[in-house]
Amino acid sequence: MDGVEILKETALQESRIFKRVLGESARRTKAGKAFGKGVKEEAFAEDPTKTCVFCQRPGTGSQVDHAYPKSLGGDAEIGNAQLACRHCNPSKGNGIVPKSPPPGYKGQWPTPRLKAFEKLVKKSRGWK
Ligand SMILES: [Zn+2]
Repeated sequence: MDGVEILKETALQESRIFKRVLGESARRTKAGKAFGKGVKEEAFAEDPTKTCVFCQRPGTGSQVDHAYPKSLGGDAEIGNAQLACRHCNPSKGNGIVPKSPPPGYKGQWPTPRLKAFEKLVKKSRGWK
């Protein structure tokens, strides 16, 4: 292979890599983004009881939350959308479950269900 051929081959390989990276980013454009109006409507339609996924209080799930945090690249897709209350969503922050229970909540926190959920999400994302 002479110099020109090597340059051609390198350019071809680079363009393949570039296209692959572009393809990746095209598929991931909704990563780390806020939910669109359509996804929010879909999330509310999925649960007409508006139950917060964390504290389980019906009628309080007024916010559409990223199950896997937006700040960590969680998708703005319906598969990552869940309803949370005005306490649990901000209390969760960059985590998977809220750090504190809503005011007046009695019992163990996080609940065994939330502990199991957190473990499952972290495991599925390779997050220690
Ligand atoms: Zn809640």
